[in-house]
Amino acid sequence: MRGPTSAKMVFQVSALVWILFAMPGNGAEPAKTKPAAPPDGERGGRLLTRIRHTSSQSYTRVTMELSTEVPYEIHFLKEEPGHQLPPRIYVDLLQTRLGMDSSQPILVEDRLLRQVRVGQFAPNVVRVVLDLRSVSRHRAFLLPDPYRLVVDIHAGGNGTGLAALEKRHSLPAPPMPQIPVAGLRKIVLDPGHGGKDPGAIGIGGVAEKDIVLRIAKKLANKLKREMGVQVVLTRQDDTFVPLEDRTAMANAEEADLFVSLHTNASPNPGTRGIETYYLDNTSDEASILLAARENGTSRRNISDLQFILSDLTQNSKLEDSITLAHRLQSSLVSQLGHRYGDVKNLGVKKALFYVLVGARMPSVLSELLFITNKVEARTLTQRAYQDAIVEGLFNGIKKYHESLLVVKNL
Ligand SMILES: [Zn+2]
Repeated sequence: MRGPTSAKMVFQVSALVWILFAMPGNGAEPAKTKPAAPPDGERGGRLLTRIRHTSSQSYTRVTMELSTEVPYEIHFLKEEPGHQLPPRIYVDLLQTRLGMDSSQPILVEDRLLRQVRVGQFAPNVVRVVLDLRSVSRHRAFLLPDPYRLVVDIHAGGNGTGLAALEKRHSLPAPPMPQIPVAGLRKIVLDPGHGGKDPGAIGIGGVAEKDIVLRIAKKLANKLKREMGVQVVLTRQDDTFVPLEDRTAMANAEEADLFVSLHTNASPNPGTRGIETYYLDNTSDEASILLAARENGTSRRNISDLQFILSDLTQNSKLEDSITLAHRLQSSLVSQLGHRYGDVKNLGVKKALFYVLVGARMPSVLSELLFITNKVEARTLTQRAYQDAIVEGLFNGIKKYHESLLVVKNL
């Protein structure tokens, strides 16, 4: 059988355009689109399966979960008061079908985003429309394993020079809004992994997720008690939290620091030591492999991401992140070396950790010893040694804080 005539096709597409662009807000006329039946031979093809969001006053992250890699376009549409249409960002997921319910808009109702509407715009194009409160900055990136398209929306942007219809994803990311340096008010600690993701499993079956949660909780208490800062943990217990939700949490909390805690692993049982990372492209093979493992992705996907992220990393708080990484690393090494002698300093390094992508504050990831080394795995489970690690991390954050105050008072 042949497809519909071109006249019918135009009508169908026009009707969908109306639904997606002209639908009044708050569900007055919900879009009635349904997931398209998969054409023969395309079952298991590209699907949009879920949309979730994280909100705060000045930041919203929308994550679109996909069944596989999807080509996409992002456009911005300015407000059309005559048609009672707000400024909108719309994302076209190409060669993709709906794998989720789209009968109702997803209400967000935060300071930046009113709602998200989804529809099968054309037989092979899913359109996701973000109805904004006002013109906002945005940027997007695709993460693999599982594939998800992340759109970050930030307050600000006056829309000057924005065309009515503008392709945005090929342009350089707009500069990040500057958050004034005023010491440390709030810190987000991120105990790596959790739930179905145990992280690295070490000697004697000890799991990375359990060690880092214990250390994060101890560190949180110490920071609150002795520095008087607010501390937020990305997980309080043994639950799974997607990597991009952890950064989103830190952004939504408007935290001043983001510290992700992990233990290292190596096929070589003799490998040991401490290293601290900040987010940047790298050509170092060991760092690429480590990031691939922590990201739960393949080495090839890391290489692809290096290119995709090239414009995302340059706007991050790179200098402050490097300073923080050095403070933490030297403090950890001196604390553990002082108490326990021989601790190998593997230094400050850079790699593409998904959990750091899009963070709006200085952010680092510490690899606290090798869980695959017999001696280090044993010490990681000992309370006194965990306390020494906490002390090292605490001192590093404190020194970083002091250096901020010095700069502020210059
Ligand atoms: Zn890890």
